[in-house]
Amino acid sequence: MSFLLSDEHRIYSMSPDNEPAMQVVPGSEVVFITRDCFDGSVDWSRFPDCLDDIDGTKVNPATGPLAIEGSEPGGTLSVRILSIEVMDAGFANRLRFPVADGKADLPASIVVPVEPVIGVIGVAPAEGKITNRTPGNHGGNLDTRSITVGATVYLPIQVEGALLAMGDVHALQGDGEVCGQGIEIGAEVKVRVDLTRRDLPKRPVVETPSHICIVSSAETLDQASDDAISVSGEWLAHHLGVSERESHAILSLVCDLRISQVVNPLKTVRMCIPKHILRWE
Ligand code: CA
Ligand code: ZN
Repeated sequence: MSFLLSDEHRIYSMSPDNEPAMQVVPGSEVVFITRDCFDGSVDWSRFPDCLDDIDGTKVNPATGPLAIEGSEPGGTLSVRILSIEVMDAGFANRLRFPVADGKADLPASIVVPVEPVIGVIGVAPAEGKITNRTPGNHGGNLDTRSITVGATVYLPIQVEGALLAMGDVHALQGDGEVCGQGIEIGAEVKVRVDLTRRDLPKRPVVETPSHICIVSSAETLDQASDDAISVSGEWLAHHLGVSERESHAILSLVCDLRISQVVNPLKTVRMCIPKHILRWE
């Protein structure tokens, strides 16, 4: 079955108190209509001056939340990204970027194919609320460029129904997101949601065609790196049935610790483990 979740349903923080906008069974395909990071409030006729009037309480809207039947705390939600269609223009660093025919126009007549990234994707935390400015173990503002078409995002379920929400799509974004923005843009994101029995760490995990990336966020890059290394090392030791000394060496020899973003309240890195060394079907 295929469903549509419109951008009428937006949340600015992830919380168990958010009422589900829709409930679906595992295996469903859902299109999320998402707004840009400023809630679709940019007025191109007054750009970039209109950016000075942005409502700071309405940043990073995420469309949702979607409840997935049978989701229980302790389980893992899988979100396969089937397609991302972006609108015809976005912005970054107070500059406007037209997008046409799957390509973005950059300064100096540079034209590059878009590689859309879902900046904010997450589930409700067990308690309290976490603003969509911040990434964490629930997902949120991960700004991780591997979260693109063809990837599957695994999220640790913390409340019944999971309460999945997403938004803040970028038509383009590099590792680091160093100016604080990708090409911020409205989008239509089609995903398949499911529950998985895979044994995964309690962090957001991104499966790409070639790698399993374990995503960690913390106040500093050093702390985020330490977390990614220890969580990945422990998981890999268990997964491969080797000692932690051996798994730590494997991380060092064939895995890549990459920076996702350095601009959010918590910084994000990911440890990317090649799938060919894993028992992964
Ligand atoms: Ca973001
Ligand atoms: Zn963004």
